[in-house]
Amino acid sequence: MRIYLSRPHMSGHEEARVAEAFASNFVAPLGPQLDAFEAAVAKYLGGGVHCVALSSGSAALHLALRIAGVGQGDEVWISSMTFAGGIFPVNYLGATPRFFDLDPASWTIDTALLAEELARAAKENRLPKAIVPTDLYGQSVELDTLESLAARYGVRLIVDSAESLGASICERKAGTGGDAAILSFNGNKIITTSGGGMLVTRHKDWADEARFLATQARDPAPHYEHSTFGYNYRLSNICAAIGLGQMEVLDARVSRRRAIFARYQSALTRPGITFMPEPEGSQSTRWLTALTIDPEQTGVTREDIRLMLLDHEIEARPLWKPMHLQPLYAGAPYHGAGIDERLFETGLCLPSGSDMSDAQQDEVIGRILALLDRHR
Ligand SMILES: *Cc1c(COP(=O)(O)O)cnc(C)c1O
Repeated sequence: MRIYLSRPHMSGHEEARVAEAFASNFVAPLGPQLDAFEAAVAKYLGGGVHCVALSSGSAALHLALRIAGVGQGDEVWISSMTFAGGIFPVNYLGATPRFFDLDPASWTIDTALLAEELARAAKENRLPKAIVPTDLYGQSVELDTLESLAARYGVRLIVDSAESLGASICERKAGTGGDAAILSFNGNKIITTSGGGMLVTRHKDWADEARFLATQARDPAPHYEHSTFGYNYRLSNICAAIGLGQMEVLDARVSRRRAIFARYQSALTRPGITFMPEPEGSQSTRWLTALTIDPEQTGVTREDIRLMLLDHEIEARPLWKPMHLQPLYAGAPYHGAGIDERLFETGLCLPSGSDMSDAQQDEVIGRILALLDRHR
């Protein structure tokens, strides 16, 4: 049986929630399950936040950027090492990205580099409209530092927490940071609604605006009246019912992913194999177990391992290719020392789904160790 990188993992509670939605005929984009799902996530995040359930994480980022006032010609400063859905909305709005490298100690945006560039941009009167740092592979960015930088320069902060629901940093939960954070419930994430996302914000007016824009921007009137354009971005009530069942097991899913990471880490202790760090005070979801392979020390490359695993029906993937290396963003400004480039060259994500059995993980570990032993 194929071993996947990260599969949907149902708890058994979802079908009953979906059945309730069917029984009341709320087979629609709004309904009681949607309200309850938003409330469940808000409660999990500790209150004080407003949650708006949407059709995807990308949709959430699109709305957050638009509400932040990002438009044609504006700059958005963003972690280069991220997933497409965490940047394409910048293009939807006609804005341009400026990319930032990672801090090797956390694999999240290098805040010192960012601070330096903000100071320079402030002097030159070219500050960005918004900053979008990514909680890479479930590790929260440095929320306090980023929030004080954003406040100091009057720049909006939108945190991409698509991979980090269930993580924390210095006692703060991932998903509660900045002017807004976005979550994803895509099929491969920690928990899923089959597809979906959420905008989380402390600003009530942002949440109201997101709900308005996500339902075709209908002004109050008996007929359809529009003073701006909107989108059809609300999450279906049926999908929200799946999310309600998933919220019951969120903490268990995070624990399981962390246990999978710990097991890989203790089994694959070889010179030249380095796992993604977790700084003091940070608790990652370990959404995907990410590691790097030094070909000089191990005698094998990332691709040797990936292709060998693929031959055995085991899915592994390179880390995200930094966006400043993508043809789409050729020539976009980039600040950094190429930490992200080296992570991409040597980095691999191993199967990390919370439904993976210990026996399956042992197979992955055994095959990697066998390959490494052949090259010793
Ligand atoms: C998954 C993901 C998204 C987008 O989520 P979708 O729900 O797939 O649109 C955005 N950013 C990052 C870092 C992600 O991993």
